Amino acid sequence: MPHDESYHMTPDDFRTHGRAVIDWIADYMQRVEDLPVLSQVQPGEIREKLPTGPPEQGESFDAMLRDVEEIILPGVTHWQSPNFFAYFPANGSGPGILGDLLSSGLGVQGMLWATSPACTELETHVLDWVVDMLDLPGSFKSSTAGGGVIQDTASGATLCALLAARERASGFRINTAGMNLPLVAYASTQTHSSMEKAIRIAGLGDENLRSIEVDEKYAMRPDALAKAIEADKAAGRLPCFVCATVGTTSSNAVDPLRAIGAICRQHDIWLHVDGAMSGTAAVCPEFRYIHDGLEFADSYCFNPHKWMFTNFDCDCFYVADRAALIRTLSILPEYLRNKATESGAVFDYRDWHIPLGRRFRALKLWFVIRHYGVEGLRHHVRRHVALAQEFAGGVEADDDFELAAPAPLNLVCFRHKGGDDINQQIMDAVNSSGKMFITHTKLDDRLTLRMSIGQTHTERQHVQRAWSLIREAAGSATGLPSQSEQDG
Ligand SMILES: *Cc1c(COP(=O)(O)O)cnc(C)c1O
Repeated sequence: MPHDESYHMTPDDFRTHGRAVIDWIADYMQRVEDLPVLSQVQPGEIREKLPTGPPEQGESFDAMLRDVEEIILPGVTHWQSPNFFAYFPANGSGPGILGDLLSSGLGVQGMLWATSPACTELETHVLDWVVDMLDLPGSFKSSTAGGGVIQDTASGATLCALLAARERASGFRINTAGMNLPLVAYASTQTHSSMEKAIRIAGLGDENLRSIEVDEKYAMRPDALAKAIEADKAAGRLPCFVCATVGTTSSNAVDPLRAIGAICRQHDIWLHVDGAMSGTAAVCPEFRYIHDGLEFADSYCFNPHKWMFTNFDCDCFYVADRAALIRTLSILPEYLRNKATESGAVFDYRDWHIPLGRRFRALKLWFVIRHYGVEGLRHHVRRHVALAQEFAGGVEADDDFELAAPAPLNLVCFRHKGGDDINQQIMDAVNSSGKMFITHTKLDDRLTLRMSIGQTHTERQHVQRAWSLIREAAGSATGLPSQSEQDG
């Protein structure tokens, strides 16, 4: 019998199985490098191996763990492989995993301060630490009119920012009266797709999101923004929101915040800054230029779950005026009334994001910061940036390849000069080899390969091997020996 009569897992069994799971994860960390990075299964292959219905009788934990190994693992794309260079990373770490595990163990639902004071206070405190770590504007600190909160994702943060902007622009009337104003929002052509989704959810409508042109570095053009705003105003519309990006997903472009911020101030428009991936770079003083002008922002977000070793999900979202956000999202039903809330002396984070319920996510971020220290985080960010710069140097030195955009930090956009078909063949070949995983974008209407370096355990040897594999694939695709084969 796998269970006692209560059907529960006893604390002693939990101890045994828990150790087995930790061992399994530690083994996984040691072998992940040798697993095919991009899962090679076909659609439906995993479901075919699963029983059609749930078991009537409980099963042994060993059987579950065995199925993870035999059925699940082949269907996993290994985001934690040091050979993962696709998209942007979702990197994690030992302290991040353990913090998350403790959060599960405590099982706290932190919707209100009163439902678990430590969940709220640790979050507020750690987010204040992060303001100092990244040298963000003081207006984001909880001791001012602003403050920070952990959101699930940058997508959720952007939506919250847009909703608060919408309410502020309408004198907080749309929540009550419905959409009754011709509101318009602005973002560059390179802005993350979550912006478009937020526009739909917030009820502004796709047609009221202006796509602002970019310059030759793919950064938003402030003159084009100003022109679009003025045209909308002249037509009787109401500009309410600008989303600027620090490190776009497609090419890592950095929008000029200072110039954009001045325009937003002039027209009293909410400026949201999305630093999902690149915000973490500001832990190093030499990369803080990316945030130049951030003091103009009404809100800002970045994802420790991308590049700060904190397991998914963890987005830090800051506002300079928390009252606008809370007034937008706060609803207080009778069954949640309590003395602490009524005293006004506490934050109730349910009023700072979309869902009511919330996990104790601050634990994992707290563990990561305490484990690495700011110095350790800086060390790894610098390492990743240096590896990306080395890779970019290799691209530039190779006559067959070219950089497709500036590579200011840890993303290198590049392409083979032979055209889209060759680049597609290179990408397909290296990804199906299982030895590495890269993805693509389109820049200038041309297929462009993205080498994104930020996985926790990526080292020089992984980047060098990736470059060799890419050059070999290029040799096969063009039918010519690659430069590396010629070299050696
Ligand atoms: C990855 C990314 C997002 C979306 O992140 P989620 O946290 O998955 O919603 C938004 N903006 C930028 C610039 C990104 O790179």
